[in-house]
Amino acid sequence: MNISEKDKQYVWHPFTQQLNDREVVNIVKGQGVYLIDEHGNKYIDAISSWWVNLHGHCNAYISKKISEQLMQLEHSIFSGFTHPSAVLLAERLLQHLPSNQSKIFYSDNGSTAVEVALKMTLQYWHNKDINKTMFIAFENAYHGDTFGGMSVGARNVFNNAFENLLFDVKHLPLPTADNFERVKAQLRNLIKQNAIAGFIFEPLIQGAAGMLMYSKKYLDELIEICNENNVITIADEVMTGFGRTGKFFASDHLKNKADIICLSKGLTGGYMPLGVTSCAQFIHQAYLSEDKTRTFFHGHSYTANATSCSAALASLDLMEENNTWHQIEMISTSHLDFKNKIGNAKKLNDVRVLGTIIAFELKTEEHTHYLNKASFSISSYFLKKGIIIRPLGNIFYLIPPYIITKEELQNIYGVIKEFIDEI
Ligand SMILES: *Cc1c(COP(=O)(O)O)cnc(C)c1O
Repeated sequence: MNISEKDKQYVWHPFTQQLNDREVVNIVKGQGVYLIDEHGNKYIDAISSWWVNLHGHCNAYISKKISEQLMQLEHSIFSGFTHPSAVLLAERLLQHLPSNQSKIFYSDNGSTAVEVALKMTLQYWHNKDINKTMFIAFENAYHGDTFGGMSVGARNVFNNAFENLLFDVKHLPLPTADNFERVKAQLRNLIKQNAIAGFIFEPLIQGAAGMLMYSKKYLDELIEICNENNVITIADEVMTGFGRTGKFFASDHLKNKADIICLSKGLTGGYMPLGVTSCAQFIHQAYLSEDKTRTFFHGHSYTANATSCSAALASLDLMEENNTWHQIEMISTSHLDFKNKIGNAKKLNDVRVLGTIIAFELKTEEHTHYLNKASFSISSYFLKKGIIIRPLGNIFYLIPPYIITKEELQNIYGVIKEFIDEI
């Protein structure tokens, strides 16, 4: 059996219907912005391999830093022990995070970063002997695939099978110019009528929902209401972190900063799994006690994995270089220019840009939906042209690694234009 046949025999892929959508491309090499398959075909990774890659594949600097770490210490227990990479990474992340953040808790992916944030919030109130256990989240939200993450997420096709087991959460519509006064009133009412522990949100852009964007002005006001009412705010920056929105964190666009911030995806530059939940000092304070039952009893075997931390440190080195920010700027302006060129196309409902992310919403007969049939035809069209795009139903988007060149971007825009003209 060759690799594709063995894959079919032995492997179960994520978010993939195993009966019909089983065709997989066998990637044998990564090189900068490209992934290369077993036949030597090169594909531009226009979605940064599920939004994780920042500096390209097989980046020489990050790979070297990881190898050095591997010769020194690959992993060690993180309860009762520490190691330099985890400590230095915490210190450096806190230099970039909003100044109200003061402690870093490590886990190993975006869902666990969220799960930790939810538990940290619940036990904060528990430790203070205040009975508050309800969360507020946005409609359409995506916060990961674990039960806590699913519970604060939208109720949709992703979690139908588990719906009865998800804990109760109050969902708010995403604020728009039309509904904002109502959303604010709804938030105030929810806080009045329920013992609300926390409000979790994807700041400025909901990724998995279809790159839905909303104004920072609205979010600032909603956070303000939470602050006035002792509701803990959680910014899920798993996708938005590390430059994606044009600033280091999406929170940097806001006046009001969340109490807890979740990071993963770009954290290691797309090299290794790692999750971070950072929190403000007052939250950590509520866990300091002679009473051992107030301890945060949460931890994963691979907490603060040294190899992952070394990748994150190397990626941070590159994030701190001016050239990376020039690239982020170049990608953002290129996206805006292209939006201006194509924004009025009849076959598009909407084109939207935030920083390095551009999303296109196709007009289709079917209602906007993750299982929209347009999805498959879009991805296969682009794949044939050497571009990896993974639509969310009738919405497709670019979220490229920062090393992409202007020419490569223009080439992708050209194919998008052809695609829209042809359909
Ligand atoms: C991807 C994502 C998650 C889940 O992260 P995983 O590493 O896939 O578990 C959570 N929140 C947001 C906003 C995400 O985009």
